Amino acid sequence: MIRITIVLLLLLSQGLHAQTTAPTHWCGTQDGKVAWLEDYQANPMAFPRSVDTLYIPVTIHLVGTSGGAGYFGLPDLLDAFCTLNRDFENASIQFYLEGGISYIPNNTYYNHNFDTGSEMMAAYNVPNTINCYISNSPGENLCGYSAYNLGVALAKNCIQPDDHTWSHELGHYLSLPHPFYGWEGYDHDYGKPAPEQINGNLVERVDGLNCNVAGDGFCDTPPDYLNYRWPCNTLGESIVLQTDPLGVKLKSDGSFIMSYSSDECSYRFSDEQIAAMQANALSDKAEFLYDQTVRYPVYAGPVVPVFPGEGDTISTFNEIPFVWEPMPEATHYIVEYSINPNFNTAVFQFMTVGNSWVSSKLVKNKTYYWRLRPYNAQHTCEAYSDIHTFTTGDQTTTAVDDLIDGLSAVHILPNPVQSGAPLGLQISSERSMELNSVLMTPGGQVVGRYQWRLERGQTRVQIDTPGLPSGMYVLKLSTADGQMVRKVLIAR
Ligand SMILES: [Zn+2]
Repeated sequence: MIRITIVLLLLLSQGLHAQTTAPTHWCGTQDGKVAWLEDYQANPMAFPRSVDTLYIPVTIHLVGTSGGAGYFGLPDLLDAFCTLNRDFENASIQFYLEGGISYIPNNTYYNHNFDTGSEMMAAYNVPNTINCYISNSPGENLCGYSAYNLGVALAKNCIQPDDHTWSHELGHYLSLPHPFYGWEGYDHDYGKPAPEQINGNLVERVDGLNCNVAGDGFCDTPPDYLNYRWPCNTLGESIVLQTDPLGVKLKSDGSFIMSYSSDECSYRFSDEQIAAMQANALSDKAEFLYDQTVRYPVYAGPVVPVFPGEGDTISTFNEIPFVWEPMPEATHYIVEYSINPNFNTAVFQFMTVGNSWVSSKLVKNKTYYWRLRPYNAQHTCEAYSDIHTFTTGDQTTTAVDDLIDGLSAVHILPNPVQSGAPLGLQISSERSMELNSVLMTPGGQVVGRYQWRLERGQTRVQIDTPGLPSGMYVLKLSTADGQMVRKVLIAR
């Protein structure tokens, strides 16, 4: 019976493996040439252009299985977003991560199709941002698709650091068709000349005379008839020779992100494509441009640990705060710690806003290694920091629910508190009593003493923290009936 189970598991794991091989198709966008682009191309001068970089919000939806597995990893997301913004740098368009990451555990959406994908987008879309859904499969054998003014779906194995799928789909979302527009799904013998028209669409000629009405309607993207994933030669051109309707030979330009050339060939948008995307953002998506804050790249220098200090042995293990000096321009961090200095086993990984994190997952008497990956909403290219280490002890800190008799709740808000800002305590007591409080460093140095009179019910009190350096502090509270401690983090 056990042996049968193992065979079944092997078969199952092979089946799962087969599903994760690279999609054989590329883009499933079905919008063709959107009405907005028809209007734009009829009179581009009537549309706005920008001299400044446009900042466009993107909402990330990570789709996993119903059991909560299979999500695209956070470091992978930062890498993919880095590639996306690099691809759009020359277009003077930059994307930023709006809000927190949305996690959607749903088997139907994990491997969806156009119908279930539309249903998912209708259910989860955040208005006035570009909603991007990263799942296992956005349609059989597809890397991704864009649904104009609805959302963008991406396969997690098509947005690796060297892939341009995300950029391609956002190009569609900002109105761009394929340069081979009209040829999608058309079965052609490339040894023969192209027809004059395909499905009512004019075929673009090498002489360029019909370039503004044929193909994608842009004259600086030359004719391209290749509607399947194709490799390029050392000059970045297609290897397949094509023939235009007048009998002139051509090779496709593989540098265009909107073509079907392989990822290693493509890297750019044309000037006319850029002008169209900017005009699209400024007119059709003007309400998306509500935050044009300029964000600067993160300075990823060495980490300055505040707690635990480098090489420290600390006495406790069960609730350890990690605190570090903030890195310039970083608003978020991925925190990783491991018992292995090369981070290949038992890696715990968290995303945190601000320069601290409290872990309750450490074990006693172990040496740990930790590192950070700093980022902000727009700049996600920074690598991991240098590595720091500390050793846990075998003592436990006071459990959170270890309250003094007569107190029913003690909340410290905010925690961490910004240096210089007051620390608030919200205390619920069952009777009136005197409460004494001492704020000290982990080493026991007293930095403040306070005394309050509590009445029955809820009391809010405040502790000023002027001039206290950032770090972890211990707040000891005592009444006639006992005492308790709470950790307080002061962030810079
Ligand atoms: Zn496409």
